[in-house]
Amino acid sequence: MKNYNLQSIVEIVSGQLIGDGETLIEQIFFDSRLIVHPVNGIFFALAGNQKDGHLYIADAYHKGIRNFVVSQPIQHYDNINQIIVQNPLTALQKWAQYHRQKFSIPIIGVTGSNGKTIVKEWLNQLLWKNFNISRSPKSYNSQLGTALSVLQLTDVTTLGIFEAGISMPNEMEKLEEIIRPTIGVLTKIGNAHLENFQNEQQLIQEKLKLFTNVNKLVYNIENIQLHQTILSDKHLSKIDRITYGYSKEAVVQIQQIISQEINTEISILHNNEIYTYSIPFTDDASIKNSLICLTTLIALNVDYKEYVNGFAKLLPIEMRLEIKEAINNSVLINDSFNSDLNSLKIGLNVLNQQAKERKTLVLTDILQSNLPDNELYQQTADLVNPYQFTEIVLIGNKISKHKNLFQSYVRSYTSTEEFLTHFKSQNVYNEAILLKGARPFQLEKISEELETRTHDTVLEINLQHLIQNINTYRSLLKPSTKMMCMVKANSYGVGSFEVANVLENNGVDYLGVAIADEGKELRKAGISLPIIVMNPEQSSYSTVIDYQLEPEIYSFRVLDLFVKKLKEKQISRPYPIHIKLETGMNRLGFHEEEYEHLIDTLKQTPQVFVQSIFTHLATADMEDEKEYVNYQLKRFNNGYNILSDGLNIKPIKHCLNSPGIVAFNDHQYDMVRLGIGMYGYSEYTDFMNKKLQPVVQFKTVISQISTLKIGETVSYGRRFKAERESRIATLPVGYADGIRRSLGYGKGKVGIHGKLAPITGTICMDMMMIDVTDIDCNEGDEVIIFGSYPTLADITKDLDTIPYEVLTSIDMRVNRVYYKD
Ligand SMILES: *Cc1c(COP(=O)(O)O)cnc(C)c1O
Repeated sequence: MKNYNLQSIVEIVSGQLIGDGETLIEQIFFDSRLIVHPVNGIFFALAGNQKDGHLYIADAYHKGIRNFVVSQPIQHYDNINQIIVQNPLTALQKWAQYHRQKFSIPIIGVTGSNGKTIVKEWLNQLLWKNFNISRSPKSYNSQLGTALSVLQLTDVTTLGIFEAGISMPNEMEKLEEIIRPTIGVLTKIGNAHLENFQNEQQLIQEKLKLFTNVNKLVYNIENIQLHQTILSDKHLSKIDRITYGYSKEAVVQIQQIISQEINTEISILHNNEIYTYSIPFTDDASIKNSLICLTTLIALNVDYKEYVNGFAKLLPIEMRLEIKEAINNSVLINDSFNSDLNSLKIGLNVLNQQAKERKTLVLTDILQSNLPDNELYQQTADLVNPYQFTEIVLIGNKISKHKNLFQSYVRSYTSTEEFLTHFKSQNVYNEAILLKGARPFQLEKISEELETRTHDTVLEINLQHLIQNINTYRSLLKPSTKMMCMVKANSYGVGSFEVANVLENNGVDYLGVAIADEGKELRKAGISLPIIVMNPEQSSYSTVIDYQLEPEIYSFRVLDLFVKKLKEKQISRPYPIHIKLETGMNRLGFHEEEYEHLIDTLKQTPQVFVQSIFTHLATADMEDEKEYVNYQLKRFNNGYNILSDGLNIKPIKHCLNSPGIVAFNDHQYDMVRLGIGMYGYSEYTDFMNKKLQPVVQFKTVISQISTLKIGETVSYGRRFKAERESRIATLPVGYADGIRRSLGYGKGKVGIHGKLAPITGTICMDMMMIDVTDIDCNEGDEVIIFGSYPTLADITKDLDTIPYEVLTSIDMRVNRVYYKD
């Protein structure tokens, strides 16, 4: 979405404008909590299920929004622009519809009861090398979500892939008008949302309305009811129907499916030729979804034979199911999002894949169904019984009435609270637990009890403070300045997925990793932000490309090798790269005398395009080295100008790290690269103490306290000798956890009840001792190694190092625990 000003929008939505029609709009908001970058943004006050969007106008205004679409005029604020319409959602949909009509590219519309998001994401994984794809973010498929999705189409898009989801009759027509697909794709049709329809036929007919204007349709010919309905439809019976299935009539005819341990080989017959491909999954749904993708490739006129590699490398899509480590060596599978038989089936399947002897099911009343109770719970029991649970816990009045249908040791409760009063955590051990229930039962209260959190030594990460710190740095930036966050080295040792996930959800524009494998892990975990790899090793270019990571290019050698790999992989659209300039760090980067040759080379290399040009400052954190920073900035500006003039492009320009953002704010250019500052640390201590919040707390508990007589000694080598009667506490943490041995002998201190206790004697591999003679404390009490007091800055000083080294030294065996308060 580009090139819309308020005047053009008001015409499209037939509203009334109060304010400046010239104002350019480039971002849409509807949830004021999600506003981080208000620049050129417009807020739609939508009527929500619970709360009216008009109630959040003040919040949006305070976050910097000055453009609004409302049904009730805003009175209280000056200097705002507003478009008044009858219904803001309808206005947004009209805009999307208008926007859609500007494109004559293939648009794939995906609908069905299950698998929409997976099929969309898999198509993207398969096709991104050859198309510039706009697709629905996450699972945006509602009346609102489809409009927002379609507005993502831009001038460079060559393919759109959008989901449409309905739960009620008469919803699809509107979605069709918005998406206006040219290729229709139907995934599995099951029972989800069937409760709102008279029968399956009505549901099918509603779904098919998405395809009113398509010229090709992909579906499973084995769904007889669906097939008959399509054949008897005036429009659909005449279009190009590309079917798959075992039937001889299918265009893509399944020949053989062989599942091995972790992958499945699928052979199909198409155009009288047998073709075999393999996917890294064995479950039925994935096999079907891969067939839908392959059939869609045919609909797109691309040659599926070139996608063997793509199919073999398909990634799982993050589901709503959460799998977590639980207490006493157990695993917990948590799905309290849906409450229907279909999603129970998925949960049971996942549970079955866990290698645990004991299996427990916690199941509540099922709410999303229109079956009579007798039948519903009979079906539920039929589904559950084959899994031979060690124990089943039923919660809710309805399901409890049918407890006799379940064949294992069954306990039943009327509510989650009642269950919790009887719950004993020590009875849980070495088991796989599936928590499956409807929202109102609040099963999260049970998962809180079950999740592992009771380790003695943990690294706690306060994600709320992380967000606050990011926003503090953001407040130093112009609204248009982009933010890259550095998550290299496992996010400075803190945990990369969890941090990246928070960053993705809080409006960060780019992520930075050190090596390709770090980026790959983030992609596998479902992170979709652009990711730059700062130090792409030669052996990892394949990974870089396969996982859509963007390499830093710092020399001709690297450029040449990377382009070779692009050619080898037949990537047909220009690949984004980031040019690093050497300006004074003398580490990596192109040198001044290479610029002319670099321009010539890039002009002759259509395989890549320069997404950004950057450099790195050596002394941004040093008060007395400002001059050197200025020297580097001058060289950088000069280099940027030569390259951007020579190539006639304006790539993203960036150079500031965390201390640079504080001290050289005028040089933020188009983007900054935030690292250590996220965790609440700054060399500019005034700034740190006033504006930042500590994110990381390393803590443990006292294992034992001993009383020593004068002259007794502590630990290896007897380097501590009691000069008075002393109380010595032993902590279950040592140098193998990342506590430097040099902190022993009284050099380092830890915090207990707000007081500091010196580390006495030699630090051992897994333990260390502290002197608590002057502190009132007991065995089992909490000890802060660093965090609130002493702070990360304190321990950094004791060690005479930098906080980066302290954080990245904490061994992975220390449990990371994340929370938002
Ligand atoms: C690590 C890194 C940063 C972030 O540095 P901080 O000092 O942690 O803010 C920025 N740019 C590059 C190139 C980096 O490698």
